[in-house]
Amino acid sequence: MDPADLPFPASLCHRCAFVRYNGNKRGSIFIGCTAPGLAKYYPQPIGRCGAMQPGPPPQTDNNS
Ligand code: SF4
Repeated sequence: MDPADLPFPASLCHRCAFVRYNGNKRGSIFIGCTAPGLAKYYPQPIGRCGAMQPGPPPQTDNNS
């Protein structure tokens, strides 16, 4: 996954350990949240979030 191809590149979720990406057969990518007690999906882009935990950058095809 190329980070430049992710939707809402300004979203705080892309830098959060709780983010999970889900794709569908049409190539859409959805930004999901796995933080305890929060919803699985929020309207994007997220600018502020009290549950945000800094995490690694999104995995790319070059990461292994
Ligand atoms: S905890 Fe907040 S910033 Fe992190 S993925 Fe969930 S909604 Fe996004």
